[in-house]
Amino acid sequence: MPIFSPRRYQPAYLPLRRDKAAVRAFTAFERTVKGALFGCRMCGNCILQETAFVCPMTCPMGLRNGLCGGASAEHCAVDPTRPCTWFKIYERAERLGRLDQLLEINAPLDGNKVGHETWLDALRLWRERDKGPHPIELVTDREKFQQEWDSFFHDLRQPAWWEGDAAYHPPAYSEPISGLEAGLRSGAFVVTAEIAPPLTASTKLLDKKVNMLRGYVTAANFTDNASAAARMSSIASSKLCLDDGLEPVMQLQARDRSRVALESDAMGAAGLGIRNILCLSGDHACFGPSPSCKPDQSDLDAVQLLWMLRRMRDEGKYLDGREIKQRPQWFLGAAGSPFGAPPKYEAIRAEKKINAGAQFIQTQPIFDHAHFLEWLAALDQRNLLDKVYILAGIVPLKSSQAAHFMADTVPGVVVPPAVLARMDAAGEDKEAQQETGIAIALELLEQLQQTPGIHGVHIMAVHWEEVVPRLIDDAGLPRPVLAGERVMA
Ligand code: SF4
Repeated sequence: MPIFSPRRYQPAYLPLRRDKAAVRAFTAFERTVKGALFGCRMCGNCILQETAFVCPMTCPMGLRNGLCGGASAEHCAVDPTRPCTWFKIYERAERLGRLDQLLEINAPLDGNKVGHETWLDALRLWRERDKGPHPIELVTDREKFQQEWDSFFHDLRQPAWWEGDAAYHPPAYSEPISGLEAGLRSGAFVVTAEIAPPLTASTKLLDKKVNMLRGYVTAANFTDNASAAARMSSIASSKLCLDDGLEPVMQLQARDRSRVALESDAMGAAGLGIRNILCLSGDHACFGPSPSCKPDQSDLDAVQLLWMLRRMRDEGKYLDGREIKQRPQWFLGAAGSPFGAPPKYEAIRAEKKINAGAQFIQTQPIFDHAHFLEWLAALDQRNLLDKVYILAGIVPLKSSQAAHFMADTVPGVVVPPAVLARMDAAGEDKEAQQETGIAIALELLEQLQQTPGIHGVHIMAVHWEEVVPRLIDDAGLPRPVLAGERVMA
């Protein structure tokens, strides 16, 4: 068990190519020391300086920019026998007064460095820089030494192809890129809804659902193999939706895809006319059906995905530096987790996503309005509410069983006991249960329409899409902005 981090999830990496014997011996020495201290996995890009000396590579999802949606103070969502690495990072950073240091956007790994020693690398950089830190200044000029120390480690962990920072980067364009962006900018209360892509090769059901929602919602989200279970791809579903006359929000999750596949799929979407992309880390494969894929299936996390796509759009270059002559046009979004970790930690994660490039946030389902307000207040404290559009998540509960399933198994979703009790009180009658679920959703919609800082709602009806038009009508939500005109319900 390492001294400063939770135990490592998988053994340390080995390099792609075999080094010379002397380097191998040094690497083995470094691996032993850092393994005992930090559970180091020899990722080749050490960010311990940034993460309060808890190694983020001990997180089973390898997340380098904050926690997943299912993290809790008690245990890791993937492996309940271990603590959550990121809770440890936040807690220690808070104790050390270094919470804001977690805002820097950390780079994904460089495959050519993975498994190699880093101490010789650091020594090489120190000699090349020739600007300190100089040990003598530790005695003669402590402040200068500290500045040089910080700048040295910044250069070490932020490669030229990444250049991550802790600053907000507003989009480098002025006109709205999509109907969703135009609707949000107009100040209208915007409604989006989720459609699960089909399980089969037939597109009939998808077309039917799109036709049902067109005229009611501004855009429809298509999940990207949610819960690690395969369906028709989000990109294909989004294109079909577009052809049916409704604007899609393509969900793009980092799980199962390398950076190359992510860049390629996002560029493909741009070529097909898909403008809204919701960037996600994705549920771990362990949440999907068996057999699941091998561990370590994430190359990037949601923050890194946003950073990469924003730079492709605004700076016109791929991650490897190749120029993009005709830049893609994307309105970029992220998921928000009001009910995961304490709001002060979730707000840091949200700020990182916004700084990286998130222009809108669709939240996890809300069943507890008071707790949701705490999350909003934490975002407000970090001055985030004027930098992002927030669409609050709503799930109409179809049955008491569905309510309990969500409460017990869906990471990051909290269904309060009072809501469960109401669903249970509806008895065995299916219709009565549905009506109770609709009544709960309508009450929340009414509260959310009056909540400052909210720009709309995102309805996730989970295979019950036919209820969406009724919810919109009964709640008196505005119909989408069409061709510059606002149609009222
Ligand atoms: S709960 Fe999530 S963020 Fe925390 S260690 Fe597990 S996978 Fe990583």
